[in-house]
Amino acid sequence: MTQDNRKPLDTPEANGWHWQTNILHTDTHVPAGFAAMPVPVARASTVIFPDLAAMRALDWKNDSQWRYGLHATPTSMELMRRLAALEGGKHCLLFPSGLAAISNVYFGLVKSGDDVLIPDNAYSPNREHGDWLAESFGISVRYYDPMIGDSIGALIQPNTRVIWLEAPGSVTMEVPDVPAIARVARERGVLTAIDNTYSAGLAFRPFDHGVDISVQALTKYQSGGSDVLMGSVVTVDDTVHHRLKQARMRMGVGVSADDCSLVLRSLPNMQLRFEAHDRAAMTLATWLGTRDEISAVLHPALDDCPGHAHFRRDFTGAGGLFSVVFDERYTPAQVDAFIEGLRLFKIGFSWGGAHSLVVPYRVPSMRTATPWPHKGALVRFYVGLEDVRDLQADIDASLTAHLGA
Ligand SMILES: *Cc1c(COP(=O)(O)O)cnc(C)c1O
Repeated sequence: MTQDNRKPLDTPEANGWHWQTNILHTDTHVPAGFAAMPVPVARASTVIFPDLAAMRALDWKNDSQWRYGLHATPTSMELMRRLAALEGGKHCLLFPSGLAAISNVYFGLVKSGDDVLIPDNAYSPNREHGDWLAESFGISVRYYDPMIGDSIGALIQPNTRVIWLEAPGSVTMEVPDVPAIARVARERGVLTAIDNTYSAGLAFRPFDHGVDISVQALTKYQSGGSDVLMGSVVTVDDTVHHRLKQARMRMGVGVSADDCSLVLRSLPNMQLRFEAHDRAAMTLATWLGTRDEISAVLHPALDDCPGHAHFRRDFTGAGGLFSVVFDERYTPAQVDAFIEGLRLFKIGFSWGGAHSLVVPYRVPSMRTATPWPHKGALVRFYVGLEDVRDLQADIDASLTAHLGA
């Protein structure tokens, strides 16, 4: 005979409810006096209101009210607070990717009939997004020379609402004159939004230079582990924040507390990582500049890079990203063979993690407003946290094997 173990659970407990009810309606004990460094992971869809008056008093503009897990939990709120402080902003919103953060800037600030200016070196999916809005949503999208400086004024129309900036462009590395563009835009009542992913918010402080909106792909250095996709939008102005927040609510996007927790875990060592990437990238970029196979090194801290003077004036560091242009005597197939001959640099998009990466780009197909002056193939390196001597030996070996005389 088998014993029915469910029997005791069928008997009401002391409070009159059964076990199945009590397991749901038990208090959560957050012991007083417990302290630890990590931010607790608060997962929630439903947020419970103490009474109906509290529910009815909800005001979507009030960032200190808890409404629904999609909008904020204590974990995401802590991350937003730390990211806003890092960039010197006031408000932060989180998105499921850097591109979703970019999209939110469009949908929050632009409507049919409006005009947007995008730098010709912008992150390609941003261009794609802009072209889609132009094609399907009646928005005018125009591209400008990233080195335009205060001549941007000549491009501003009465219906221009947003000017995008990227400093530097993450493939071709031109560093725009951000303060000049931001000043002219502000004089003309146009908002500026910068994709500040390159600097991680550490090496460039957009709000000190007059920019209105800073977008980050937290997927990169803030995550640091090549294992999280997330984006942020940081602002200083309440009205701009509310327009972006409302668009975010209407689009139904949010982030998981677990992902926020991973980013919170990486933030304390981000500056140390950034500096290590920066040192190693400088070492390799400088060395590559001495190689006969390379016709230009596009690293903002080096003279060859357009906008180098802006970089020196406005930035405090560079991180692990730079590009090189190969001498035009090499065919694209030879450069491809060089890339595939690398053992430590993996072929893949994105960056910000511990591993070194490499990607070739066909730049002329990526721009429409400015001619590309180089004939040789462009290759972008992301320098990870491997020992830089091993990375240099890796590049050296593949150059010799595939591009040797
Ligand atoms: C990676 C990246 C993004 C987009 O981030 P995802 O999280 O991959 O969507 C945006 N801008 C720049 C400059 C990037 O490098």
